[in-house]
Amino acid sequence: MREIILCKYGEIALKGANRSSFEALLCRELKFRLSGIGKFSVIRSQSTIRIEPKEGWEPDADAFDAAYNVASHTFGIIAVCRCAAAEKNMDSISALSVGYLAQTMQSVKTFKVETKRADKRFPLHSGDVSAELGAVLLEHFPHLRVNVREPDVVVKCEIREDAAYISAGQVHAAGGMPVGSNGKGLLLLSGGIDSPVAGWMMAKRGVKLEAVYFEAFPYTSMQAREKVIELARIVSGWAGSIKLHVVSLTKIEEELSHNCCEDYFTLLLRRFMMHIAGKIAKRTDCEALITGESMGQVASQTMQALGVTDSTVDMPVFRPCIGLDKEEIIITARRIGTFETSILPYEDCCTVFTPKHPKTRPELDKVIAEEKKVDFDALADEALNSEEIINIRPIFGK
Ligand code: ATP
Ligand code: MG
Repeated sequence: MREIILCKYGEIALKGANRSSFEALLCRELKFRLSGIGKFSVIRSQSTIRIEPKEGWEPDADAFDAAYNVASHTFGIIAVCRCAAAEKNMDSISALSVGYLAQTMQSVKTFKVETKRADKRFPLHSGDVSAELGAVLLEHFPHLRVNVREPDVVVKCEIREDAAYISAGQVHAAGGMPVGSNGKGLLLLSGGIDSPVAGWMMAKRGVKLEAVYFEAFPYTSMQAREKVIELARIVSGWAGSIKLHVVSLTKIEEELSHNCCEDYFTLLLRRFMMHIAGKIAKRTDCEALITGESMGQVASQTMQALGVTDSTVDMPVFRPCIGLDKEEIIITARRIGTFETSILPYEDCCTVFTPKHPKTRPELDKVIAEEKKVDFDALADEALNSEEIINIRPIFGK
């Protein structure tokens, strides 16, 4: 029996004249991700993509599961299902369905059959195929009942050019747009819960990611850095490889704490972060910054504070978590696999010197007056000189 994975895409189908380039990007990405798993072909036809083992190669169950996992983690695909390919006649379709679907049919009580007849030359109409296949399944699995309104499982028979594909149930996949279809952004990645989610949300909309992590060694530890590397690795399982820039803020933190009013400390630090990130973004062809900020979450995330931090950069700053409650962010963090790593208890450079009474409604001129007490440009340049780059390569299919 030949088993394949059928991938359905969502928004790409609406892309009109550009559709073909989006499809090509998605297929290229899938091929790349599958290349480390086995010899799979990626074939586009009739608004779907088929992933199938190449002639002469039989994947074992692990390789097939890994390929399925890759398909469901690739942005641009909204649903995936495993299908068996039957010859295009009712005898083959019925015989194969009984064997291939046996386990699923034993585990449910009700079903319905839906047939899609993409190949209009097939002699039977879709209603007739559904009726005939339904009758065969009822005969072989006598405990089953047909329920067309709310079936436990929908058996699908898709009659396409090359074969009839049989499946039972499809699974929602990642959705979104293929990574790389909407430019590149630089994610400010801390070890917290929010920023990995923010990166994932932008990657879902087709944005390729680079990331910057600010540390303040020895106030922050190597474990804190390892944690951020692990978070980047998990996000890369969805977003593709990520170049992680690690920049030291130690000197900046020390200078700020010696020279500036404590109440402004976090805001000043965040202005340094945004400014340095902006410089890295320009150098690496990133067209926007991405942060995990959420409206009102902490003092530095009030509307006025965000305005003050944004005024150090001259590119768009995307904050996809801005309207989400923490609980909602956590639901996504769990879904994408970052939550357990994010809650490991290592310090962040923002939390090393925290003011007791941070300004929640800062005024830009007062912030700038405080900032003038240190040599902003020299400190920013010195921090940039400390930059290390770590290439995060994902392990696809795990
Ligand atoms: P997270 O928002 O990732 O859960 P957090 O809530 O502890 O972490 P905040 O103090 O809320 O972090 O910081 C707001 C945003 O600033 C983060 O979402 C992240 O984009 C950025 N940021 C904070 N600390 C760092 C850091 N050390 N390196 C890079 N970016 C950072
Ligand atoms: Mg946060």
